[in-house]
Formats: sequence, structure tokens, C-alpha cells
Amino acid sequence: MELDRTVGKLIGYARVRLGLDARNVNFVRNTVLDLIGMQSYQECGVYEGEKLSVLLEELVKGGVEAGLFPLEEAENKKDAVMGALALSPKEVEEIFYSRMSTSSARAAEWLYDYAVSSDYVKKEALDKNPRFTAENGLIVTINLSKPEFRDPKKAASGNSVKGGYPACTICRENEGFFGRAKRTLRTVSLKLGGEDWFWQFSPYGYFYQHGIAVNCRHTPMKVDRSTYCKLMDFVDLFPHWFIGCNAPLPRIGGSVLAHDHFQGGGEILPIFRAGTAVAMHGAAYPAVSVEILDWKGTAVRLVSRSREEIANCADRIARAWEKYEDRARYIIPFDADGAHNAVSPTVRKTADGYSLTLILRSNSTSEEFPDGVYHAHPEFHVIKKESIGLIEAQGLFILPGRLVSELGALKKAMVAGASLPEGMEAYRMIFEEMGGGNKFTEAAAREAIARELGSVCERILGNTAVFATHADTAKFLRSIGFEDGKVSL
Ligand SMILES: [Zn+2]
Repeated sequence: MELDRTVGKLIGYARVRLGLDARNVNFVRNTVLDLIGMQSYQECGVYEGEKLSVLLEELVKGGVEAGLFPLEEAENKKDAVMGALALSPKEVEEIFYSRMSTSSARAAEWLYDYAVSSDYVKKEALDKNPRFTAENGLIVTINLSKPEFRDPKKAASGNSVKGGYPACTICRENEGFFGRAKRTLRTVSLKLGGEDWFWQFSPYGYFYQHGIAVNCRHTPMKVDRSTYCKLMDFVDLFPHWFIGCNAPLPRIGGSVLAHDHFQGGGEILPIFRAGTAVAMHGAAYPAVSVEILDWKGTAVRLVSRSREEIANCADRIARAWEKYEDRARYIIPFDADGAHNAVSPTVRKTADGYSLTLILRSNSTSEEFPDGVYHAHPEFHVIKKESIGLIEAQGLFILPGRLVSELGALKKAMVAGASLPEGMEAYRMIFEEMGGGNKFTEAAAREAIARELGSVCERILGNTAVFATHADTAKFLRSIGFEDGKVSL
């Protein structure tokens, strides 16, 4: 009876929150009963605004107690039931596009709310992730939902299983796929650069409305002139979002290199607030303002209303960087392992037109830095060992969940005035920098840890800088025809 009531409430939830049509209620209820193995049903239970997570826990508890499925099946059952309660991909896309005709921001908001309501974006869990803005303006989050990813080789294959279906974790064929618990995944079609792409929100959601735009074809990541045009097409559609593309090389890019995709969403990333260190321009691009950013990594911002000129200018800088060589600093464009220089572009729309940030990256390694000369250096690996992808290179750091307990242990020692806890030797530098060994109040310890994390993230950004100074970046730009001075847009 309890289980009958929970099913009744879930159907009520789907009517209120997921757009389940009255005409489909019997059909969907029967699908749910089948999925959890209920042979009979007595109609009862009225949805009264309960949290979805509560209803799903009740469903699991009831199902396990009734011997319908084992506890290990809980996540799978929840995904299956929610997939059945949600509208079909076609219905979701139709509603999305009917809203797009009046406001893309509202259409996006509807789609995001739908992804949360259908439990694809696990917002309740994500909201528990610690997050703060450090003194230096960088945003630090600790992601408790996503496992720490440390294998650059897996990224090259897109975390795929050989011969597997779907070919990788972001292929569109995952929509409704039981094998990866994606029965609630819904995507919407987009045209970018005349090609078929689609948008979906990220279940890991590092920030507000975080999602990915994905090529409908399973084709490797690349960044070329057409990428800038696709990114601009995207912000023409969604001017309230930013969109960016990881450098298409292992160790400096994202976790899926085998499938062309972008990342974006509704966050104002710290780099967007960065000022200009050196203003420049190029005679071939009179309508483009070129700014070397006051930023720890090596970043150039191009601003223009002209799509054509901004794409040409970005392409000029990217092509030159891809060939740039400085062996003394381990900047080696190509060797037996392939290419090592790449750019990571991000586009958004501002009052001055398109604003395109190019971050110059190198994934070269040396004996001293086997994980990457321009990667987080070893002394920081205890905080961050994963690739510094496009979101982090722009100042929003996603740190691994293990830090909650590890930093908790450091805090405890600081409050007790004790020395570095046993087994935490890897934290010695961090602990000493925070003044560990002295006695802290709870609040002071918390503050010291936050300040230290911000400082470590800033130094990691510095590690990724391919030019040591802004003057060196300016020298590179001058060598390819750019000149000092501002243009008026
Ligand atoms: Zn794929």
C-alpha cells in the first residue's frame, strides 16, 4: 500500500512538474509498475509538493522491502522510473523551440528546470558542493559528485569502451541509454556553422546552467577558424551564456577529446572581469580590439562587432601559436608525440559585440615535469592533479571531493594548535604556508584555508602561462604583425 501511494505521488509529480498529459497517465503508470515489478496497484496517493528525492527514496525502500528488487538496483530503478515519467525527447524539443521563438533565455531556463525536475541534473546534490570566491577573485568549488579524473589517455578515447555503444559518453545516442543511467537525458537540436549539433545540461553542473554543445557526429575535438564561427553562432542563439572549447590535446583539455564539443552556461567566469595589461591592434583587422589580459595564464581577448574580422584575427594568432617554438622553455610545437601547442577559445556577447578570449596552451612535458611543464606543478598536486581545462583556465576551479575530509583534518589540527597530522606529508607546504602549528580559532582556520586555496589556484594558473610575462606575450604578437595601441570600436 505504501508503495502504491508513492507511485501515485510520483505520477502526480510528473503531472505537475514534468508535463505528463492526463491522456498518458494510465500508460505511464503501467510502465512504472512494470519497471519496479509491481503486479497489482490500488490507486491512491496525492502529490503534495514533496521533494522528488524523498519520493524516490520511498520508492526504493518500498521496492526493496517488498522484495521487488535488490538495494544495488536502487540507482538504476530511480533512473528508469524518472525516464518513464519524463516527456519524450521530441516533446521536450518542441516545447523548448516554442519558447525559443520569444526568448532564448526563457527557453534555456525552462530546459534547465526540466533537467532538474526530471533528476538528470542532480541539483540537490550539487548545491551541497562547497563553493566560494577567493580574495583574488578566483572561484573555488569542491565537487563531491564527480569522481576525480586522472587518466589523460582515457580522455583521448572519450572514455569509451572499444566497440561500445554509444561510442562515447557524450554521443547523442546516450539519450535514454540504460547502460549509463541516462534514461532522463534530453537534448535539443542546434545548427552551428551549418552543422547539426545539440545541447544538453551537464549532470555534474560545475556552475549555473552548465552544459555542453555537442556535434551530432562522433568526430574528434579540433579548434580551427570554423570553431570561432560556431561559437559565435551559439552566442547569437544564447546571448546570455558564454561558450568555449577546450584545447584539443591531452593533459590540457577536457575529459572527452574523441568527440567534438563545447562547454558553456550562465556563469560570469573570473577571466571575463580581467582588465587589459597591454592593448594592441592589427592592421589587417581594423575592427578588432586585441587585449593581452591581466591574467596569470596567457590569454588574449579579441573584441569586435565583425564576425569575419574576429574569426580571421583569432585564426592568425592560433595558427602562429601552434607553430611557435622556444626549446629553452620546452615550448615544442611538434615532436614524435604529435602537436603540443593549442588554443582554448571562449566567446560571449557584450555591449561591444563579440568578445573572444584565446588562452594559449602547451602540453609539453620534461624530465622535471612529466605531467606537463605548463600543468599544475607537483607541489600543488595534493590540491589539484587533473587537467586544467577551459573552465579552470578561466578562473573557476573544480577541486576533488576528497579535499573536504583532508582539509577538515588540517583545520582540526590548526584549531588544536597541533602539527601536521600523520599521513599528510603531501600537505606540508600548504600547512606551513597557512601558518599551521600555531593555534587558530575555527573561523580563522577556515579563512586561512580559503585564502590558501585561492592562492594555490592562482599559482596553478601561473604554471599554465606559456609566456612568462605580458611583455613576452606582446613580443610574440608583434612578431606576427600586431602593433601596440588601442583601437576605438
Ligand atoms: Zn561520441
